[in-house]
Amino acid sequence: MNKPAEMKLETVPAWIGGKPVSSAQRFGDVFNPATGQITKRVAFADSKVIGSAVSAAAAAFPQWRDTPPVRRARILQEFLSLLKKHQKELAEIVTDEHGKVLADAMGSVQRGIEVVEFACGIPHLLKGEYSENVGTQVDTYTLRQPVGVCAGITPFNFPVMVPLWMFPMAIACGNTFILKPSEKVPSASLRMAELFKQAGLPDGVFNVVHGDKAAVDAILIHPGIHAVSFVGSTPIAKYIYETAAKHGKRVQALGGAKNHAVVLPDADLEFAADALIGAAYGSAGERCMAVSAVVAVGAAGDPLVKLLEKKAKAIKVGPGTEQDVEMGPLVTCQHRDKVASYLDIGVKEGAKLVLDARTQKVPSDGFYLGTSLFDQVTPDMEIYRNEIFGPILVVLRASTIEEAIDIINRNPYANGTAIFTESGGAARRFAAEIQVGMVGINVPIPVPVAFYSFGGWKSSLFGDLHVHGTEAVKFYTRTKTVTTRWPHQDTPAPGFNMPTLG
Ligand code: NAD
Repeated sequence: MNKPAEMKLETVPAWIGGKPVSSAQRFGDVFNPATGQITKRVAFADSKVIGSAVSAAAAAFPQWRDTPPVRRARILQEFLSLLKKHQKELAEIVTDEHGKVLADAMGSVQRGIEVVEFACGIPHLLKGEYSENVGTQVDTYTLRQPVGVCAGITPFNFPVMVPLWMFPMAIACGNTFILKPSEKVPSASLRMAELFKQAGLPDGVFNVVHGDKAAVDAILIHPGIHAVSFVGSTPIAKYIYETAAKHGKRVQALGGAKNHAVVLPDADLEFAADALIGAAYGSAGERCMAVSAVVAVGAAGDPLVKLLEKKAKAIKVGPGTEQDVEMGPLVTCQHRDKVASYLDIGVKEGAKLVLDARTQKVPSDGFYLGTSLFDQVTPDMEIYRNEIFGPILVVLRASTIEEAIDIINRNPYANGTAIFTESGGAARRFAAEIQVGMVGINVPIPVPVAFYSFGGWKSSLFGDLHVHGTEAVKFYTRTKTVTTRWPHQDTPAPGFNMPTLG
């Protein structure tokens, strides 16, 4: 790929012990997807660099663990103000390296900032339980204590939001943290590390390392790391879950998705089509909560497909930095080509290609692909079974809501889903029967707000606990239960039977 020959590229360093660390044996290229140019290189961590990040995080842990939660919260509040102040700068970094349009990047940074707002309430969130007199003069209480050094491994599609799902909550709980962001979008994490230091975070509490499989593997097997949070594709999520668990770590690994939206015949089709267009093609379909499959029920089918075609055709594609652009490029040339290859696959499988990206004019530099729509798709087709992660929407037809629910429940992915209807009864039944982690009723992308938890079911999540909200507090702490006896009567004689305390 192109880089101006005479230009010396800036290196994105790691951040260890409160300082940038640029030394590396291997480097990766960072692109601007809107131009196709290499703009930076990123220093890949090897096991030695991972070792020094773990040492820094381990050294910082005892003091940070013992820092009262209210003081930790004050540092988070400072970090929150700095994130708000630098929101546009962070969004611009996202657009530069990922390609999504700036307004969308701003929204994603905002959703991340909201997790920090939630983390500021950590003194309240860490409160345990207390029971007086569980036995005579015996009380029991629980403590929520940090796990130790935690690591986070994140995908390319949300360079600010997904890291912010993890490290603010882990650090608020008293842990120290090592973040390994996607090597395709490394700069935003580094900027957040600088801002967190400026907010008063002690060195070593938050560290950033870069790299590919080699860096991730070094994290997964390092005995000094106690918990791993992962967000990415399903095969890697499964690998992370199994490998980290085998090495004694607590793991939550969020995977890929095929999110369905059901449209019932009673729905306001114009409203549903507008919602679906944003949910399918926003961020060029590179969202884990993108709607990538529509299940049109009965008479909704034909008029809905017509509306989707008209609206998808009208989407303006171009650089994310331009004001009226609605869809930017895909993240890399390889990913764009892989997504585009599904157009031939779908046609071969017998689906009806209603709108073909290859017939649309898009900028020739950069990793652009227009919008595509398939109709008459069936569950056995590859274009339905695979997560395409690009601007291709597939429409399946169902005769009844039962059939629609059955299609979704048979899909191995189960991240998000939505239903469009005017019937409260149908919506309620859908929410009750659907086997999916996050459900929208007339809401196309039901990403829970920061004080609820985010996560799918089945192949969209390996592990038990979801990210942010109160489930994050559970993931990043261990419960200790203390039973105390402070007798003010005669001490009982030693006992050799199972104590009943009563
Ligand atoms: P990815 O799985 O390729 O990469 C994710 C992370 O894993 C990156 O940091 C990468 O460096 C690392 N990685 C890649 N290959 C690896 C390997 N073989 N061994 C060890 N580590 C490896 O995902 P991506 O392409 O960056 O992101 C897109 C995927 O993420 C999509 O599948 C999307 O659905 C998913 N995603 C899921 C959620 C969710 O909440 N469930 C959110 C965002 C993205």
